[in-house]
Order: sequence, then structure tokens, then C-alpha cells
Amino acid sequence: GQGLPRPEQTRVIVVANQKGGVGKTTTTVNLAASLALHGARVMVVDLDPQGNASTALGIDHHSDVPSIYDVLVDGKPLSDVVQPVTDVEGLFCAPATIDLAGAEIELVSLVARESRLRRAIDAYEQPLDYIFVDCPPSLGLLTVNAMVAGAEVLIPIQCEYYALEGLGQLLRNVDLVRGHLNPRIKVSTILLTMYDGRTRLASQVADEVRSHFAEEVLRTSIPRSVRISEAPSYGQTVLTYDPGSSGSLSYLEAAREIALRGAGTDMADSNSSDGG
Ligand code: ADP
Ligand code: MG
Repeated sequence: GQGLPRPEQTRVIVVANQKGGVGKTTTTVNLAASLALHGARVMVVDLDPQGNASTALGIDHHSDVPSIYDVLVDGKPLSDVVQPVTDVEGLFCAPATIDLAGAEIELVSLVARESRLRRAIDAYEQPLDYIFVDCPPSLGLLTVNAMVAGAEVLIPIQCEYYALEGLGQLLRNVDLVRGHLNPRIKVSTILLTMYDGRTRLASQVADEVRSHFAEEVLRTSIPRSVRISEAPSYGQTVLTYDPGSSGSLSYLEAAREIALRGAGTDMADSNSSDGG
């Protein structure tokens, strides 16, 4: 498929939320695959030692594989660790191995500890339209590296009780990084995940998030879908696992919104229904 505008510069989108299980990894791999299927060149950087994004993309990430750990800690070029995703043209992954669990500590004593991912991305020469960084469920140095490397933070929010708990802390961290390390970083996008419109709680949470973050929340929300949760065990995104499913269509639509919104500064250009 074609038909979505491609950004003039690489958009680096940081998928972050220090809560686990809210849909960061699922959102990262499925948005990345959606945009690649639309003809974009996309890289997923797996910054979670669990390596779930690598698994979901069918990328080998056993402990001997060159990985993002080598990039961050040893300064290996990103091009030495990137692997193509076999069933989606234009999609690439910098995998995480379990070594990355130690990086949070090892980075502390290294020079430029907050900007090591940024440097690696800046030195990467292959053309890319999007880089999605899948963050671990914490606000430590790995997530800080992502926020220093990026310009946009995408926060997945699971539509359940306590959905907004911890969000203030995440927003304060983005502010701190913007104030001290990367003036470009901002929260550009909020995506409601695992949405079940039949429950009153989910719609209440969605309304609350939309009222607080009218600009950032995508119109598309991601439904709770068994097909979405099954796909990773086949090393696939839902886009190839079950292309016609509601989960697949909703991620394609969310990706379309993101592409049309541009990098966040010129949202009105291609998105007249936003109304300002
Ligand atoms: P995180 O990366 O924030 O920890 P994940 O993306 O790994 O969260 O999602 C947590 C769990 O929820 C996983 O088992 C995943 O398969 C499942 N999941 C995520 N999104 C959906 C969805 N829309 N419908 C059903 N299950 C989902
Ligand atoms: Mg994850």
C-alpha cells in the first residue's frame, strides 16, 4: 500500500509509559508495521531487556546476537546490529537481549550517558522515515536515552481503572528532559489501548483522557482483541497475522492519523477536522 505522506526528516517516536502491560510493545510493533506496509522505511529500537518487540517482529535476540546493548554500552554502530523483519518490507529492528538489563547500571558511569542512543541514531546513514523506540516499564536511563534521541513521546494508555495513575510523573519526566537535555521532546500522541466499548469504565476513562489531552489523543482507539495478543507468539504483527481483523485495521488507522499529523508542529496542515 501507498498513499500516506512521508516525513521530510526521520521522525523518532518514543513509546513510553512506566507502567507495564499497557500496550507499549504491541503499539510499537503494530504502528511500525502499519507504516512500513504503507511504503515507509521504519526501524524499531527495542529498549526493553525483555526483548518483547524483537520477539514480536520475529527477530533473533538470544544473548549472543549483536544488540542495542552493544550500541549503548560499547558504542557499536547501529548498522552492525539492525536486522530486517522478514515478512514486512521496509521494516527493521535493533533487537534487545537480556544483557540490556545491566545497561541501566552500566550507563551511569559512562560519558554522555543520556545521549548514547541519540549519537547512534545520528550516525546511522540509511534513510528512514520513522524510528519507534519501545521503552522498558521504568523511567530510568534507558527511557531517558530514548527521550533524548526523540522529538515525540507516544503514551499508550490502557482504558482501565488507575489508567491515569503515574501519568503525572511521566509528564514531569518529559518536562525535565526537555528542560535539561533535549528541548525538542514533547508528548505528541496518546493512544487508548485495549479499549472495550461495552464497559462503562472504559468509556469513562477514555472520556477523561480525551478531556485532559484533547490535542494529543488519537481519534482511533485500539480495541481489545485476541488476534492482537496471539500474533507475537507467531513472531508476527497483527498486520500480517490477521490483516482483516479489527485490531489490524485499528492500528492501520492510528498509523494513518500519525502520518497525517506530521511531526506535531504542523498538525493542522493535513488534518482539517482537528479544528485547531
Ligand atoms: P507493555 O509493552 O506496555 O508492557 P504489551 O504491549 O506487552 O505492554 O501488552 C501487554 C499484554 O497485553 C500483552 O500480552 C499483549 O499481547 C496484550 N495486549 C496488548 N494490546 C492488546 C489488545 N489491544 N488486545 C488484547 N491484548 C492486548
Ligand atoms: Mg513492553
